[in-house]
Amino acid sequence: MSDIKQQPKIVIAIDGHSSCGKSTFAKRIAARLGYIFIDTGAMYRAVTLYAQEHGAIRSGMIDEEAVVRLLDEIVITFRFNPERGASDIYVNGDLVEGKIRTIEVSNCVSGVSAIPAVRRKLVAMQQEMGRQRGVVMDGRDIGTVVFPDAELKIFMTADPSVRARRRYDELRAKGDEVSLEEIERNVRERDKADSSRAVSPLRQAEDAVVLDNSHMTVDEQMAWFMERFSKIQNS
Ligand code: C5P
Repeated sequence: MSDIKQQPKIVIAIDGHSSCGKSTFAKRIAARLGYIFIDTGAMYRAVTLYAQEHGAIRSGMIDEEAVVRLLDEIVITFRFNPERGASDIYVNGDLVEGKIRTIEVSNCVSGVSAIPAVRRKLVAMQQEMGRQRGVVMDGRDIGTVVFPDAELKIFMTADPSVRARRRYDELRAKGDEVSLEEIERNVRERDKADSSRAVSPLRQAEDAVVLDNSHMTVDEQMAWFMERFSKIQNS
């Protein structure tokens, strides 16, 4: 541990499919290395929630121009929450962490994240947050667009039905009345939308290493990670 903390800090980019545990993994890595964890999906979700609450999305229909008009008034900030061991996300000073992971937001977020002006704003913020290195950032385009020079790039995936079950268990544990079918549909549709959009589609960077965690525990994933991280530090 003390060795790790004395080494020059790097950027760790974690991209991959929806609901495969990227944030859980990234959070663990950040805690282990003393790095900052940034959940970029939360930023796209926060913009989506704001658009829903301000009339730019009605009955699931996204008015792109209205979303773009709202962008200037959206100020996103993060504040570390020691209880969660991660940062909570705020929009214009309001804590939205608990409101951004509903199925209503999940159903619209891919549409909002495909709007070029939304991506420009959030990518610039993400690059600024990682300027000093020492960050673990998870998303869809971190290793390809946000930090193409990241020293370690991981592309995560897992079987869609395993991913849907994990997300379902998470939402049910919070008391959300969702069905497994609805979640699986959302996971598959987001994969498709995120991979086929014109701007910054989800794709594996050429120099990324793949982690398929369908049958791995978080501890096994950490052991896998530490092996790769040590190799980079010793190279
Ligand atoms: O990671 P999470 O599933 O919370 O991301 C929500 C959505 O935000 C994704 O389905 C994708 O549409 C969008 N996203 C993105 N680029 C990122 C992170 C998330 O387009 N870097």
